[in-house]
Amino acid sequence: MLVLVINCGSSSVKYNLIDSANETDVCKGMVERIGAVTSIVKHEPTEGSRRKETKVISSHTEALQEILDYLMSPSNKIISSAADIKAVGHRVVHGGEKFKDAVLIDDEVKEAIKQAFDLAPLHNPPNLKGIEAAEDRLPDIPQVAVFDTAFHHSIPPHAYLYGIPNRLYRRHKIRKYGFHGTSHYFVSRQYYKLTDKSKTETRVISCHLGNGASIAAIKGGDSIDTSMGFTPLSGMVMGTRSGDLDPSILFYIMEKEEIQLNSLHAMLNRHSGLLGLSGYASDMRDLIAEASNGDRRCQQAIDVFCYDIKKYVGTYIGVMNGCDAILFTAGIGENSSLIRKKALADMENLGIEIDEIRNENVQPGEITKISADSSTIEVYVVPTNEELVIAIDAAKIASASGQTPWL
Ligand code: ADP
Repeated sequence: MLVLVINCGSSSVKYNLIDSANETDVCKGMVERIGAVTSIVKHEPTEGSRRKETKVISSHTEALQEILDYLMSPSNKIISSAADIKAVGHRVVHGGEKFKDAVLIDDEVKEAIKQAFDLAPLHNPPNLKGIEAAEDRLPDIPQVAVFDTAFHHSIPPHAYLYGIPNRLYRRHKIRKYGFHGTSHYFVSRQYYKLTDKSKTETRVISCHLGNGASIAAIKGGDSIDTSMGFTPLSGMVMGTRSGDLDPSILFYIMEKEEIQLNSLHAMLNRHSGLLGLSGYASDMRDLIAEASNGDRRCQQAIDVFCYDIKKYVGTYIGVMNGCDAILFTAGIGENSSLIRKKALADMENLGIEIDEIRNENVQPGEITKISADSSTIEVYVVPTNEELVIAIDAAKIASASGQTPWL
């Protein structure tokens, strides 16, 4: 069953056309810089040559039409008509407290996504634009929303409540939600396929380390805590996001730097993290290269990042009274042996020992054990595939919805 997975940003539409039955990618690509003088369009079919071009694309609806035109074009032979697509799966970042699972989109769901605009102002508005564009261009095809927050619904109140007046939770739903749920879900399920232990007995720590980064404690298959919180700004230090701060620092910065809330928001989201610490780059590859040339601030940024990972891993071992496996995923987690090694160094008293040779020989795209045989906690690199989770959820929900005339 072909599912179109859509992930919309404020000026971009990323897509994956996935065969959910075989769990394979058919084509992927993106339209970037929507609304700019020229937009960039990229397509990468699994079979066939890649294409990159510039065009004028002024809205998300036009971007989606561009994608459909490419997929349906007789010269590309990817699909013969839009009706070949049996479901559209939308990544929606914030589902608030309402959505514990993926859902078929109707007016009520769209209203709830809108209600969560305040909680994820950078993400939910463009996510809704993507849904409206797909409804416009693919009106007869079931649309499904898959939420980044849903997997973390199992986090108990003692872990999701903040130490602020309880009425703020009741009135404004200020609590920890957690993000990267589809990724933490996917990599933990990949681990369950490898182990003889039953899911209910396992305790897993999943480290999703990309531009955004979060760590989750997963016990018996359920998320019981995670480093991100009310928004994706909190937790460990990230590419450009600060991660956790003493809240008093915010008042202090506003006063001393004489800046307003919106500048503070931009500073914490876009100019902090690895970029802010190093004063050089947010990209881990650039930082590693510059640190090896002797740049002290780049080295410090790497040190903070690795220390944060170690801190969460140690905390979650405590929270779960032990751990069976630590999983590394996303751009940094999958590709940087240096970060993995540094983050888990000197933890042998907790039962963590990395095998240097295994760690250095991880092949891209493969699940690889990197812990030593003597390590009581196993450590794996597990490539993530959030789009596949969205495609499978969308296929399941579309099939169950009765809106599938082909069945
Ligand atoms: P996003 O959150 O945007 O999806 P990714 O999961 O693609 O991010 O991760 C991007 C990060 O992965 C960047 O910091 C990039 O430098 C890092 N990365 C990718 N390859 C490597 C590598 N070989 N070594 C170190 N870092 C890497």
